[in-house]
Amino acid sequence: MIGKYASVITQISVKNLEKVFTYGVPDTMRDSLIVGSVVEIPFGAGNRMIRGYVLGFTDTLDFDESKVKFIHRHYENVDVESELIGLAMWMKQRYACTLQTALKILIPSKVDVKKKQDTYIRCLLNPEQLSSMIEQLDGKARFESRVRVLEVLMKEHYIAKKSLLYKAEASVGVLKTLLKNHVIVQESENVNRLPYDVEDFEVTRGLSLNEHQQNALSAIEISMDQGKSDVYVLHGVTGSGKTEVYMQAIEKVLEEGKSAIVMIPEIGLTPQMVRRFVERFGDVVGVMHSRLSMGERFDQWQMAKEGQLKIMIGPRSAAFAPFSSIGLIVIDEEHEMTYKSEMPPKYHAREVAIYRGHYHKCPIILGSATPLVETYYKAMEGKYHLLQLPDKAKAANDLLVETVDMREELTDGNKSILSHRLHQAIHYTLEKKEQIILFLNRRGHSSFVSCRKCGHVLKCPHCDVAYNYHKYKNTLLCHYCGDHIHMVKNCPNCGSNHIRSFGIGTQKVEAYIKETFKDAKVIRMDYDTTTGKHGHQTVLDAFENHEADIMIGTQMVAKGHHFDNVTLVGVLAADMSLYVNDFRASEKTFQLITQVTGRSGRGHKAGQAIIQTYSPEHYSVVAAKAQDYTGFYKSEIAFRRMLRYAPFSNMMTILLSATDEQYIIRLSYRLKDRLVEYDEQEGVSILGPSPAIISKIKDTYRRVIYFKSDNYKVLTTVAGQLYDIMKQEDTRHIGAIQIDINPMMSY
Ligand code: ADP
Ligand code: ZN
Ligand code: ZN
Repeated sequence: MIGKYASVITQISVKNLEKVFTYGVPDTMRDSLIVGSVVEIPFGAGNRMIRGYVLGFTDTLDFDESKVKFIHRHYENVDVESELIGLAMWMKQRYACTLQTALKILIPSKVDVKKKQDTYIRCLLNPEQLSSMIEQLDGKARFESRVRVLEVLMKEHYIAKKSLLYKAEASVGVLKTLLKNHVIVQESENVNRLPYDVEDFEVTRGLSLNEHQQNALSAIEISMDQGKSDVYVLHGVTGSGKTEVYMQAIEKVLEEGKSAIVMIPEIGLTPQMVRRFVERFGDVVGVMHSRLSMGERFDQWQMAKEGQLKIMIGPRSAAFAPFSSIGLIVIDEEHEMTYKSEMPPKYHAREVAIYRGHYHKCPIILGSATPLVETYYKAMEGKYHLLQLPDKAKAANDLLVETVDMREELTDGNKSILSHRLHQAIHYTLEKKEQIILFLNRRGHSSFVSCRKCGHVLKCPHCDVAYNYHKYKNTLLCHYCGDHIHMVKNCPNCGSNHIRSFGIGTQKVEAYIKETFKDAKVIRMDYDTTTGKHGHQTVLDAFENHEADIMIGTQMVAKGHHFDNVTLVGVLAADMSLYVNDFRASEKTFQLITQVTGRSGRGHKAGQAIIQTYSPEHYSVVAAKAQDYTGFYKSEIAFRRMLRYAPFSNMMTILLSATDEQYIIRLSYRLKDRLVEYDEQEGVSILGPSPAIISKIKDTYRRVIYFKSDNYKVLTTVAGQLYDIMKQEDTRHIGAIQIDINPMMSY
């Protein structure tokens, strides 16, 4: 039973969220109204009837009861906005955020950008008239280009002016005569901006599936037919044909007049994926990503809502595509950390997908070669359905993976970043004219500068992080605030001149490789070389076209690219992510090594991967070498169970920040004291307060308190309590309070 009154907004826009009105719920509607219902309400002094959306219910009023107006009508039909409002309410509860922050990411702000206008030419003659006209003019030199235009128009009656002129190799002057003689007319059309060029795509058809793919597809199709929101874990190595399964399942979705969402970790990294979808499905494919302009983004949203688009591809925000009827939601590379938002609301795209799957009664596919331990656990428990694609879809050569113990290299007197084994392999691969990817576990991060005499590390004065040394410009750069200074000659602490950069960054590797393999062409792919809208693509294309023999990169090179000619992958420092302060460290290491070694040997030639490590006996490295996901899973789940980490408990992080350090310290202790009652009562354990891993960013101090509990709901109750306490606090000095439930990163 809902409350006596309903809060209603008249229009969904972020601006309007402040204006929530309370209306009485007539008895006749008490069983049918829900959050998100579309209603008609008498509005303003004249009681004009307008549409509104129900946001929630209450039994109390903050104004005189006699002034209450009643909801006039409940529309049976809901629209996309209704669903999104329901979703926002759910997010508010699940992620302890405000309704405003939730709705803000659900609904793009409308922007008044002029739509790009394209001019189109329409031919007014029928083909017979056209051909007789061509006959008359043909052979006369001065009509040559006019004939070419008419010939193009024979094939295409309606064509963009630009492409007509291009195809006919004609100038605008030619069109003028034709316009005057009423052979053609000119029309302008509002074109919705598609963030890709559709014209030069070839159409592809569905391949005939292998047995495993077919089994997977059949299972998914049964859920579709039965309207069940089953969650499928599609577990298969890269190249096992997962994408082909997604596409064939989507074919069925489109046949039924429904839409599909396909999430990928980061769009800039996987342009090939978008291309494959466009080649299969044409211009019903929409793309959403952070590098789109506001106008482009708004267009995509609008086109999805109006049904012009049927498939939305994009990173986690694609989860909110405003389709009115969804038939399938796919999350590719579901283990990726980018599916969790790092900004409030700190939602996880998988959870949103499952919410929408329930609403639309459609299945969800989570695809990965290395599913998240939490996901795989649910599959083992029978909550999700496991589908395996054990083989590569195309016959492929086996990948040979080996590890090199870097400690032994050191004892043998090799202090360079390359082991003898990897050095040899690079040499050999270059000789064969094949390509190489060298993977470094993390951008710049390791290339800090310190004093060999006193140990002083050069840090950004505004952030508690070490400066990165950039050899190219001989500068020290902070990756958090962008602060940079010229490289120093003497230690600011003791004055010694033994100041050195340590560890390896991509630039350092690049310099070393260029020096060692003088004839090889080398390119680097990291955040510094790939800025701009088409940044990634340029580097990838160059490598694909064999403009370079060796590509050096960070995380970015590990993802989804397909290079036929790469037969060697070298992992330079596999352990670098192993000992960071994060319970997911082993998992991340395993995922990364598996992904990056999988880049090797994707074409017709056999692939090889060499992992350099200081801990060859660690289970992440052992399992990655053996390409054994289940082996890894078994060790990892035992570790999680023992230490009560996800999926065996829920964690909540409260991050507090302020520019006044003393203030934020005192506040964090006060909050902890007030919340500590949950400790005993509800089986919540509290850790902290303590400085965040990065304890200062841009002169703002950061502290964290951790809560751990088996019960998710208890954590959201604590969060609610926290907000109540904060109302009594003097909050003028607070920079931010951020709540992250089941965080994917460490604070
Ligand atoms: P994944 O998404 O698991 O990496 P893909 O779907 O991209 O795998 O498939 C890898 C390659 O194998 C692609 O080139 C794809 O066209 C091809 N492929 C997929 N399924 C089949 C099939 N049933 N028959 C032949 N080739 C296939
Ligand atoms: Zn010093
Ligand atoms: Zn800084």
